[in-house]
Formats: sequence, structure tokens, C-alpha cells
Amino acid sequence: MKIICVGRNYAAHIEELENERPIDPVLFLKPDSSVILKNNPFIIPEFSNEIHYEVEVLVKINKIGKHIDQKFAHKYYDEIGLGIDFTARDVQNQLKEKGLPWEKAKAFDGAALIGNFLPKTQFKDLNNLSFSLEQNGEVRQNGNTSLMLWKIDALIEYISKYFTLKIGDVIFTGTPAGVGKVQPNDTLKGFLESEELFSINVK
Ligand code: ZN
Repeated sequence: MKIICVGRNYAAHIEELENERPIDPVLFLKPDSSVILKNNPFIIPEFSNEIHYEVEVLVKINKIGKHIDQKFAHKYYDEIGLGIDFTARDVQNQLKEKGLPWEKAKAFDGAALIGNFLPKTQFKDLNNLSFSLEQNGEVRQNGNTSLMLWKIDALIEYISKYFTLKIGDVIFTGTPAGVGKVQPNDTLKGFLESEELFSINVK
């Protein structure tokens, strides 16, 4: 499986990092080796002093497809989840300055937390889902899919122009404002609507 991530999909997050608003979605990939195994902690890698959490709504692909029209995109997923795009912000800033690819900052071992998934039929409107991240019991990020610059079905159309989507692929749809640093012994919990979809410790 592969993970396709969307960068800069929420206006308030673009502003907090002082990035430019993109004309098209910003995409990058994480390899399967970046996924944290079930019930394992996130281990802060030695090459970074500034690991950020980015809570994101996830979409799990259930059918192979390429050049998927937005109108038919809903047929390619049944489940919605929540995860964290762990980012070595210090490494990313150095790479961005030089115009280099972001993989060392975003695709390292442990950089992808994939929480539980729920059937999409459980929700009335996928374009109006609230979600949040708690760090040690304090809410740090609060988002709603209505604030996405590109909504789920538009993302699937755009992504599938470049990458064939396969069964089991996961799309990370971008993070809202409020990203911040993780510390050893943190507990991070993610909520989609009222359901807790992950809880992970940091080491
Ligand atoms: Zn992200």
C-alpha cells in the first residue's frame, strides 16, 4: 500500500506556517515503512529536535482506479479514519529553503499514524465532519472537513491523475491549524466527531 498526503489544504494552517496558498493540491507520498504498527508508540527520531503532530482525516481506498472523475469518486472508498502526519519540521524547513524534496521530514519510519476507520455511512455529510487532536488532555487542533480547500472527492480526482489508486491505499487529506511539537511521554488522542480513533504515546 501507499500513502498519499495532501499539503496545504486548510487556509488557517497555510497562514500559520506562512506558506503560499497553492493553485493545485500539494501532494507527497509516505512509504508503507512509515506506518506505525498497531499499539506501538511514536519514537522521536534522533535526527530531529522539532517533531510536529498534524492530525488529518484519512480515506481508505477500496477499489483500483485511475483518472477517476469527481462524480464517481465516492465509489472508491467506504471508510473514513483519522491519523497523524508526523513531521520533522526542522528538517522540512531546511529542505524547503533549498527547494529539496520533503521525504526525510515526512516519510521516515514512524511518520504515519493510521488510526481506526469508520464506515462512511455512519456520517450524514463527509464535507462537514469535525475532528480534533488532544495532547495530554488539552485540545491542540480542531478542524472541520468543510474548511478543506479541496474536498475528498476533488482530491481523489486530482490524485488519480498522477497515481493509480489501489485497494488499501490511504489518503491523508491535510491538517488544520494548531500544529505543534511533541515531547517524550506525551499522549496524543484523535477524535472524529465524538469517536476516539487513536491514542498513542510518544517516546
Ligand atoms: Zn500533513
